[in-house]
Amino acid sequence: MAILAIRDVSKSFGRHTALDSVSLTVNPGEFVSLLGPSGCGKTTLLRLVAGFLQPSVGSIEIDGRDVTALPPNKRPLNTVFQNYALFPHMTFLQNVAYGPLRAGVAKQDARSRALEALEMVGLVGLQERYPREASGGQQQRAALARAIVNRPKLLLLDEPLSALDLQLRRRMQIELKQLQERIGIAFIFVTHDQEEAMTMSDHIVVMNAGSIEQIGTGNEIYRAPETRFVAEFIGEANFFVVSPSGCDLAAQPDGFEPSPGSRIAVVRPEHVEVTTDADVSNGFSIGGVVETISGVGGVTSIRVRAGNGLIIAKRLGMEVPIAAGQAVRLCVARHNVHVIGR
Ligand code: ATP
Repeated sequence: MAILAIRDVSKSFGRHTALDSVSLTVNPGEFVSLLGPSGCGKTTLLRLVAGFLQPSVGSIEIDGRDVTALPPNKRPLNTVFQNYALFPHMTFLQNVAYGPLRAGVAKQDARSRALEALEMVGLVGLQERYPREASGGQQQRAALARAIVNRPKLLLLDEPLSALDLQLRRRMQIELKQLQERIGIAFIFVTHDQEEAMTMSDHIVVMNAGSIEQIGTGNEIYRAPETRFVAEFIGEANFFVVSPSGCDLAAQPDGFEPSPGSRIAVVRPEHVEVTTDADVSNGFSIGGVVETISGVGGVTSIRVRAGNGLIIAKRLGMEVPIAAGQAVRLCVARHNVHVIGR
C-alpha cells in the first residue's frame, strides 16, 4: 500500500492557481524528488502534504488514512526546512530530544532515542554543542536527527541542502541517500537542482507551472522525456523536426512549432557524432559549420550551426580533430532519436 496518495489536488491563492489537479503516489521507503523551476508549485505541494495549507480541491492520504482535514501535528510525518530551524539556546541533544519529550516520552528514554538519532546522522560526540558552535553541515545533520527521532512514516525536505557550499552539498547528498536507505523512511525532497534530484531519487517528479510534467526514474526522464519542457530541464537537449517525408533532420530554431504531420524529436548531445566523412549510412545526418569548441572536465562541447539552428555535440576527451569554421556532418543513430509527444 502507498504511504502517500495525493489525489487530484488543486490549490489556488486568490485567482492564482499554484497547483492544478496534481496526483502522486509514493511507496514506503521510496525517495521521491519534486523537481522544477522557481514558482512551479513544489513548496506548495509539500506544504499541502504537511498540512500547513489546505487544498482547494482534492484529497491527501497518508498510510491509507485520509488526512486532508488533519492539522500538521496530527499527521504521521515530519519536515526539514532549508534554514534547519534548530532552537539556538538548546544543545544538539536537547534539540533532538525535544520532540519525544513533548510527545510524553520519559526523560531517560527521550535521551537515548535522541542519542540513537544523532548516531544515525554521524553526530555522536557533538551532542553537547550548541548550533552556533557547529558547521552548516553539522547543523543540517542535527536538523535531520530531530526530524527522524520520532520515526515518522514520511519525511518532507524542502531544499534542505541549499544553504551549504557546493562541496559539502555533494557530500550531504550521498549521506542523505545512505541514511534514507538505512532507516527506510519515505522521503519527499524538494529541489530545483536536477543533478541533486538525479543523485538521490528513486523517482523524480518533474513539475512545471503547477502541473506534473512527468514522473520517472532519473534514467527514464533523461532517456525518454515526454515533453519538451522535461527534455530541456533535465540535461542538455537538441531539438529536431522529423517530417514524414524524410530521414533528414532539419535543425529546429527556437520557438518553432512543427507543421501538421511532423513531430519534434530530442537528441542528447552525447549522441551527436561530428564527422568530416561525407558518407554516412547509419541513421540521420545534417551538414553544418563548427562555431565553437570548448572543454570542461574532460568533456568537449562542439557547437555547430546547422539548418536553422545551433546543435550541440559532446564527446569525452579534450582533443578533437576539428576546428572552428570547419564544415562537418552531424550524425545521429536512429535509436538515439527520441520523438516526444508535446
Ligand atoms: P521556489 O523554488 O522558488 O521555492 P516553488 O516551486 O516552491 O518555487 P511555490 O512556492 O510552491 O513554488 O509557489 C507556487 C506559486 O504559488 C508561485 O507563483 C507563488 O508565487 C504562489 N504562491 C505560493 N504561496 C503563496 C501564497 N501564500 N499566497 C499567494 N501566492 C502564493
